[in-house]
Amino acid sequence: MTLAYRRALLKISGEALAGSRGVGLDFGVVGSLAEQIKQVHAGGVQLGLVVGGGNIMRGTTASAEGLDRVSADYMGMLATVINALALQDILEKIGVQTRVLTAIRMESLAEPYIRRRAVRHLEKGRLVIFAGGTGNPFFSTDTAAVLRALEIDADVILKATGVDGVYTGDPKKDPSATFIPELSFQEAIVKGYAVMDANAFGLCKENGLPIVVFNINQPGAIVRVLAGDRVGTIVR
Ligand code: UDP
Repeated sequence: MTLAYRRALLKISGEALAGSRGVGLDFGVVGSLAEQIKQVHAGGVQLGLVVGGGNIMRGTTASAEGLDRVSADYMGMLATVINALALQDILEKIGVQTRVLTAIRMESLAEPYIRRRAVRHLEKGRLVIFAGGTGNPFFSTDTAAVLRALEIDADVILKATGVDGVYTGDPKKDPSATFIPELSFQEAIVKGYAVMDANAFGLCKENGLPIVVFNINQPGAIVRVLAGDRVGTIVR
């Protein structure tokens, strides 16, 4: 495989791990995702993963139901650790060396996040799973993904979603919505396309970090994106 990127950060939402159930973990889905990740990793890409937690707990949803927002956000961050451990277990079973690094210290089950250590793991060919989001309430795992991508000097951030990329409207509601293969940061802002949450998007724009939004359910999508194929929408 010829690589278009040397080091990449893949953001996987919690929903992508829940499959058609929408909540919790579907281990069949996690397994097939792990196979794709293994293939990419075997191709020589230095790969970091940031996992979401929305399949288990979302701070905004829980606080709307009466929970304290900060507590709910910490619960959300813990949910990302559950997902990270599931991914780690399944990846290691198929022979991928991984390390989970958490933004909130919990040394009996994972290493604490230390930037230089993360980079060292990547250089040694280990796949690094960043868990616990940014470690701060009021943020999202999209922001955590951009933050870690910038910290480890990734060439690109890959945002795995359930749709093919960015459209002019919501393709599920508007049949006239058309697919956009390429966008500038400025265009995305002017036209109001929601690529990522505003904090995360702003960080990418400010630092010139390209984003590829693609459909994780398309077979081989991650491999194709990293080989530089035209898959999904690229924002740069
Ligand atoms: N979260 C947080 N700070 C972070 C990252 C996540 O407080 O830096 C909490 C927040 O409550 C969020 C939840 O963790 O709703 C799960 O993350 P997210 O919603 O980003 O997951 P995804 O939608 O990607 O599954």
